[in-house]
Amino acid sequence: MGSAGARSSDTAARVRALGIDAPLGRSFACILPGHDHAARLHPATGFWRYHCYDAAEGFGLAEVRAYLAYDGIRRISPVEAVRWRERLDHEAGLLDRDPVRLLVPGYGAECGEADRERHRPARRAARSALASG
Ligand SMILES: [Zn+2]
Repeated sequence: MGSAGARSSDTAARVRALGIDAPLGRSFACILPGHDHAARLHPATGFWRYHCYDAAEGFGLAEVRAYLAYDGIRRISPVEAVRWRERLDHEAGLLDRDPVRLLVPGYGAECGEADRERHRPARRAARSALASG
């Protein structure tokens, strides 16, 4: 990874994907859930950090993306942060890969009514096996 300025267009794209429309380095309304104060992005060694009143040490942009999804600040592991970074990069248009869509029978928005009906006997059998097992 280069200096904070070397990839500033990528950083700007990530910032826009987070819903922040202020120029880098300028203050804006903190986007973290439940936060009602100003925030700012500061350059750190090789990347930008998100700083606000409740985050004096700052957060990485991937952490900010995770906190938006989790509706609050929580500890995330380094591996989890990598996944959120990939998601943020995708949302910022920085990855040329599409997300892998998994069809889990009976679950999720990807599953239409026809799928649910088609998999209903299998789910019933699985529930019976769990209940008797
Ligand atoms: Zn904040």
